[in-house]
Amino acid sequence: MDKVAELAKLEAEMAANAALPLRGEANLVFGEGDANCAVMFIGEAPGANEDRLKRPFVGRGGQLLDDMIRGLGWRREQVYITNIVKRRPPENRDPLPAEIEAYKPYLTRQIAIIAPKLIVTLGRFAMNYFVPEAKMTRDHGHPLIIGERLVFPVYHPAAALRSTEMMNVLRDDFKKIPAVLDGTLTAELPPALERKVTADPFEPQSPRAGAKKGAGRGRHPDQKPLF
Ligand code: URA
Repeated sequence: MDKVAELAKLEAEMAANAALPLRGEANLVFGEGDANCAVMFIGEAPGANEDRLKRPFVGRGGQLLDDMIRGLGWRREQVYITNIVKRRPPENRDPLPAEIEAYKPYLTRQIAIIAPKLIVTLGRFAMNYFVPEAKMTRDHGHPLIIGERLVFPVYHPAAALRSTEMMNVLRDDFKKIPAVLDGTLTAELPPALERKVTADPFEPQSPRAGAKKGAGRGRHPDQKPLF
């Protein structure tokens, strides 16, 4: 089965899972983009516009994200965009830990199918999904090797829309993405994260199996030119 078919099967499975929280309250916003992409963007949860259109990042934050992706010379269709929690929490409240846990096996499989070279996390929730100990002010813009994946945390576009300072930081971090991909900017671990990062969020069924892999520094094998 190719990646597109595997993703369609996963989406159908999710839609049929009556045990998933927020089901019946909001639409499923599975994610979209190129299943064979190099870069996957992961946000927090859909908002009102996303819920209505069943597409991730289509509101003002989404327009900013599109703009930043275009700034790299790419098109939105060339990357894959999704969220940790794939249904809108009521009134756009923060996703609950139980919701994040419930949707985790699906995101894990979605990432495994797409197998991107780089995961760019948008905002605190997506960053802390991969690195619970990370702090946005300190760790944004630093590529991290988490388990077998290369993860690059940046501010959420919605936060950038609220503050010129964060907008500038987000723009600067986006400019680093090509260097993260081609390995010019190697993965590093801020001193405060050394020794702390051990869990592998890609192995939710067997956290112990991933524990020894942890996070690392240096060049990830996927850090090579994109196109
Ligand atoms: N914010 C998110 O985190 N995801 C979306 O899809 C839209 C807004």
